[in-house]
Amino acid sequence: MCSTARIDALIDELECEIQRVHDAGLGDELVEIRRVCNRLEAVFAHALVRFDHAREFATDGAVSTVSWLRHRCRLSSGNAAEKVTLARRLAELPGTDAALTSGVIDYQHAALIARTADKVGADNVLAGENTLLVAARQMDAGAFAAQTRFFQHCIDADGTLADANQDHEKRRLHLSQSLGGIFFLDGLLDAEGGAMLQSALRALSGPLPEDNRTPAQRRADALVELARRQLDGGGLPQAGGQKPHLTLLLTEETLKGAAAGEVDRLPLPAETVRRLACDCALTPIVLNEAGQPIAMGAARRTVSPSQARALRARDRMCRFPGCDRTPDWTRAHHLRHWADGGPTILPNLALLCGRHHWLVHEGRWRLVGGVANLQAVPP
Ligand SMILES: [Zn+2]
Ligand SMILES: [Zn+2]
Repeated sequence: MCSTARIDALIDELECEIQRVHDAGLGDELVEIRRVCNRLEAVFAHALVRFDHAREFATDGAVSTVSWLRHRCRLSSGNAAEKVTLARRLAELPGTDAALTSGVIDYQHAALIARTADKVGADNVLAGENTLLVAARQMDAGAFAAQTRFFQHCIDADGTLADANQDHEKRRLHLSQSLGGIFFLDGLLDAEGGAMLQSALRALSGPLPEDNRTPAQRRADALVELARRQLDGGGLPQAGGQKPHLTLLLTEETLKGAAAGEVDRLPLPAETVRRLACDCALTPIVLNEAGQPIAMGAARRTVSPSQARALRARDRMCRFPGCDRTPDWTRAHHLRHWADGGPTILPNLALLCGRHHWLVHEGRWRLVGGVANLQAVPP
C-alpha cells in the first residue's frame, strides 16, 4: 500500500507526542494537524481524479466514482459528490491545487472554489483565483461561502438568481404534535427568510441573569414569545371573523390547582392554566360541572388599561430580583392568585417576564416580602 503504512506509523508516533504536549501548546499543534489533514485531502483528490478518468470504479461494479465512494469509503452522497467535484476542478485550477497541496487553505475552502467553478466555469474562476485564494486564507468557511456567492453573482447574475429561486422553492415548515402533546418543528427557509427569523429570535433570546436555560431552550422560548407578542398585540389578520387567540377552558377545580384545564383541545396542567389566567392574556372560560360556561366577573381578575399603565410606571421592568426585562416582555402577575381571592389591585400585582412568570407558577418559586420588597425563594 505505497507509503500509507509508513504514514500510519508516523500517525501513531504523532498520537504519542500529542499526549505529551502541555495544554497551553495544544492550539498550535491543532493548527498543524489541520494543515496536514488538508495536505492529505489534496493527495486523495489527485488520486481520485486519476481513478475517475480511468473509470476504475467500474471494476468494482459501481456506475460512477460518486457511487464507488459511497460504497467503498462509506461517504454520504453529498460528501462523495463534493470530493469528486474538487478532484476534477483542482486539475483546472493550479493555484487552488498548490494552496491545498501545501496546506495553506482548508479543504472546505478548496471545495467552495471547486463548486464555484462548477457554477460559472473554471475559466472565470481562473481569472479571479488569486483574489479568492487571498480571501480563503483570511476567512472562515462560512464567510468564504458568502464571498464565493458574491463572486458568482458578478459573473453570472442570472444563475445566482436561479439558484436563490431554487432555494426559495425548497422552503417548508412542519409543525406536528405527538400523542404526548409535545410539538415538533421541522423546516427549511431560504437565505432571506432564515436571516429574518434569526434576527427576530436573537432579539428575543438573550440570556437573563443566572439563566440556566440552554441556547436552544432560549431560542424555543423566543419563538413562543414572538407568537405571544403578535397574539397579544392583535396585529394578526382575522381568521373566521375573529382575531386569532387561544381559548382557555377550565373549571373552578382547575383554578384550585386540582384538575387539568384545556387549551385548543389539549389538556394543560392546572398550574399552567393558573399562570395563563393570571394576567388574562387569554380569556378564560370557566365551566360548571355540566360543562356550561359560568360568569366569572371580569372586574375580579382583569387588569384595567389604567391599572396596566400605573403598573408599568411603578415596576418599569420584570420584578423578579435581578431581571431587567422591559415592560414589553412582561405580564401582570397576581401575587395572590385571583382564583384564591387575590384582588386585582396594584399592591397585589407585579410585572414578570415570561421566563420568570413560568418560574413562579410551574417552577414553584415563591415571591415573598410584599410588592415593595419582592424576594424570590426557590422551591
Ligand atoms: Zn402569575
Ligand atoms: Zn424576568
